[in-house]
Amino acid sequence: MDQKKVLIIEDEKSISDIIKFNLTKEGFSVETAYDGQDGLTKAIASEPDLILLDVMLPVLDGFSVCKKVRETSTVPILMLTAKEEEVDKVLGLELGADDYITKPFGMRELIARIKANIRRSEFMTDQADAPENVREFGNLAIDLNRYEVRKNGRALELTLREFELLKYLAERENKVFSREQLLEEVWGYEYYGDIRTVDVTVRRLREKLEDDSSEPKYIMTKRGIGYYFRRP
Ligand code: CA
Repeated sequence: MDQKKVLIIEDEKSISDIIKFNLTKEGFSVETAYDGQDGLTKAIASEPDLILLDVMLPVLDGFSVCKKVRETSTVPILMLTAKEEEVDKVLGLELGADDYITKPFGMRELIARIKANIRRSEFMTDQADAPENVREFGNLAIDLNRYEVRKNGRALELTLREFELLKYLAERENKVFSREQLLEEVWGYEYYGDIRTVDVTVRRLREKLEDDSSEPKYIMTKRGIGYYFRRP
């Protein structure tokens, strides 16, 4: 693997230093920024393979940086959150962050998450060049290479997670999965986040996919167990 570049945008120097130390030891090249504006400038100028982005930052906060970066780039963004309210905001807003990790976190966990997010983004890039691969489910078409879902021929604006969750369930029609299973399988590694992530992603997916999200016809709830995909 060629050397991957991580941009750390974090104003607490002690945290930034220890992350940098550990990532360097793991063979990453590391760049740092201590406020949101500088972070944004470096995110655009140096094209990192992943951005580690703190929420509370001077000048420009992490949410704004995330939105700005997304206007021009699909680089994986892993957000660092310190408080429960920040987690809710990361989950609830369409910021385009790929993942989040709550402080305090272990260094092994952080590095595992960074690697998993970089691998995933590389995998996506490879897929985009492959020959056409579309699965049809009634009036729903899932284009596995272009990461696109069309309903009655019209493309839906899904985030990467929403797409991956839909793809996973649709490829295993009628099989029920628990939230824990989905976290592990769809998020692709031992996920330390909480199962609310699954519920929020399902809710958003339904809002985009279903005619009436309160009466879903594709992503079904199995009460007390989890979710499954049904061909309408
Ligand atoms: Ca901070």
